[in-house]
Amino acid sequence: MIYLDHAAATPVAKKVLEAMKPYFTEDFFNPSAAYLPAKKVASDYEAAKAEIAHAIGAKGNDIIITAGATEANNLAFTAIDGGGGVLYLSTEHDSVREVAKRLGGEEIRVNSYGLIDIEDLKSKINDDTRLISVALANNELGTIQPLAEISGIIRNVKIDRLKRGIKTPLYLHSDASQATNLLDINVARLGVDLLTLNSAKVYGPKGVGALYVSHDVRLKPLTVGGGQENGLRSGTENVAGVVGFAKALSLAKEHINGNRKKYANFKKILLNELQGYELVNKKHALDNFVVLCYNGIDAERLIYLLEDLGVYVSTGAACAASKGKKSHVLEAIGLSDTEIAGSLRITMGETNTEEQIHEVAKIINSVVQQEQERIEL
Ligand code: PLP
Repeated sequence: MIYLDHAAATPVAKKVLEAMKPYFTEDFFNPSAAYLPAKKVASDYEAAKAEIAHAIGAKGNDIIITAGATEANNLAFTAIDGGGGVLYLSTEHDSVREVAKRLGGEEIRVNSYGLIDIEDLKSKINDDTRLISVALANNELGTIQPLAEISGIIRNVKIDRLKRGIKTPLYLHSDASQATNLLDINVARLGVDLLTLNSAKVYGPKGVGALYVSHDVRLKPLTVGGGQENGLRSGTENVAGVVGFAKALSLAKEHINGNRKKYANFKKILLNELQGYELVNKKHALDNFVVLCYNGIDAERLIYLLEDLGVYVSTGAACAASKGKKSHVLEAIGLSDTEIAGSLRITMGETNTEEQIHEVAKIINSVVQQEQERIEL
């Protein structure tokens, strides 16, 4: 098997699994219980949260643990439960788009590279705007957004509001699910008020995520009950999951530079050896994302043919792909219907070797040629 769909899922790293194991068996206690072994588990949980926070330059108290990035994204949007306008990038993941749409949010355009249209953003911010959501890296293209520039614009809007006595706050939320493996994330440097993290994309367990919340942001509970996670997400803590997530994040941080070099080299090899494609994510993309378009060919068919040969790639976001929906991301960057239908997403990861990359280039070339011949017949 050659797995090239790391944007959809990453396997749990061995060291991560080892770190998690004790919390399924001997350290199974409920962290809220009063006896000593439970208190030790509670303290391990807090230490893991502090480690997650530290990885992004924050403190343990600033982090709300959730059951994945979808929940974290949904929780971020409770910042506007008191009313106010929402702006979100047109290429956001559905867990942002769907909640933003329900709140009457307005889309911010992207250019043909998938980069935010800064002028469009500026023109859409008004005195009612309370929350702006822009993912740090896109999950279909890998496009990295200029978050520091965006937060600079927001800072100026806030200063202007202050001068004019307008009290509406303005928050910047970013979904960093795909970025954590390859970008050194620091919330202060990015200038974000809310940041989503996703364990499932960094070789940690699935169903674990976190939302960084800066001190001045007030959120509403996602679930109510025992009052865990500062009352914002009640429910017995997933200690094993959070310990695993913390380990996965610190491993990711350790390997950022090495991994970036490794994937940049893999990307170069693929782009050299593959034939007959149009590169879709031409600029500002994460090193492990290669998005290609074989115009006129049905990429869905390619995927099934590749699967028969043991190669796993994708047409776009895994959830959209399984529902047969047209990619809103590829549409937003201006691709035509046939270009969208011919697009293939390859996302490299720690399971890959250079040998596999050469091998996969050969396999894709032969499958594409076979499809072209079938169409021409
Ligand atoms: N945000 C982005 C950018 C993603 O890629 C994903 C997962 O595919 C999610 C959010 C949702 O994550 P989860 O399904 O773990 O809740």
